[in-house]
Amino acid sequence: MSHECYSCVMTIPLAAPAARPARLASSRASRPRGLYDLSLAELETRMPELGAPTYRARQIWGWAYRQLVPDYAAMANLPAALRDTLAADLPISVLEPVRTLTADDGETIKALYRTRDGQLLETVLMLYPDRATVCVSCQVGCAVGCAFCATGLMGLARNLSAGEMAAQVVDAARHARARGRQLTNVVIMGMGEPLQNFAETMRFIGIIHDPAGLDIGARRITVSTSGIVPKIDALAEEPLQLNLAVSLHAPNDDLRSSLVPINRRYPIAVLMDAVDRYTAKTGRRVSFEYALMRGINDSDAIARELGALLQGRLCHVNLIPLNPVEVLPYERPDAAGIARFVATLREAGIPTTVRYSRGLDIDAACGQLRAKEEAVRAAS
Ligand code: SAH
Ligand code: SF4
Repeated sequence: MSHECYSCVMTIPLAAPAARPARLASSRASRPRGLYDLSLAELETRMPELGAPTYRARQIWGWAYRQLVPDYAAMANLPAALRDTLAADLPISVLEPVRTLTADDGETIKALYRTRDGQLLETVLMLYPDRATVCVSCQVGCAVGCAFCATGLMGLARNLSAGEMAAQVVDAARHARARGRQLTNVVIMGMGEPLQNFAETMRFIGIIHDPAGLDIGARRITVSTSGIVPKIDALAEEPLQLNLAVSLHAPNDDLRSSLVPINRRYPIAVLMDAVDRYTAKTGRRVSFEYALMRGINDSDAIARELGALLQGRLCHVNLIPLNPVEVLPYERPDAAGIARFVATLREAGIPTTVRYSRGLDIDAACGQLRAKEEAVRAAS
């Protein structure tokens, strides 16, 4: 069978989706920790164990995250014996590139990777005149199961490790550099729910943020969530003040619970309280994502209800005309319907952006991703 990731409509061959709790634990345990899984401090700690002085860690870090070299053999100022030990103990290549596609006149680069245990995931790099943004996957599949989302259809295969996330960013930085560009922004809006893989996501963010390496500033990192309330609070406690995007999709509990099942656990009032706490703590404007679906969440009444819900909040709404998923019944509204919804929200004083998709070809899907990133940018 095949699965179309909502984010780029790139057909990805997958094993049949099934609940695999038994495999989850074993695959997690057997996965080796690679170089990209470690913080610089942890790498420094590892050096004496490998018979090397601590300062080698910074050299390795520089090669890995500044020079972006793909293997230890290229780390010219390391002794050959250390390079061999490192290659055996701390692998760099945890993701094997399977396929790379480009769209939008080469400004969108989509990469499909295979993990060491055979899972497939994808990453999208978007080049803009003033920045280069990578959209990272944090899980293979997702347990939240939103009604309109192709990733949700898969169920959760497993969490990605921090290193598997960092590897996506490093490879995107390589693709950017090959085009004379520098990677500037990271959005965790690919496959998966980052706040259900909280520890590894935070570890990952620490690694890509490190000024000795990729040096991605906190304001250039966005975490998108379906609304895992306790983890929104945990995020607010993190030392890095990241951008938060909340996937709302509906202004009332009945509708939201039918689209985003986690809403039954964390209903809108509870979610909004958490968002307010996040804003109060960080002073950051939160971005609300809203996938517009014809006849589902796009009426004037719902737009007014959404406007009332968000009024007075430090926020921004990003409307994403739905990217329809083949096996799911949802459709995007027509242009007039989208324009009406935007106008109603703006009349209510809610800063709103929208990106019109251009159909179901590869470009359209990338347009959708761009829309998400645009909103993130507008919110930051
Ligand atoms: N799990 C996180 C982040 C990944 S999904 C979350 O839900 O926020 C990133 C965004 O894509 C979310 O806003 C999600 O609701 C949206 N999305 C998923 N499927 C979509 C589709 N078919 N069309 C438009 N947006 C979609
Ligand atoms: Fe898809 Fe995000 Fe919902 Fe998971 S939480 S099913 S990735 S929209």
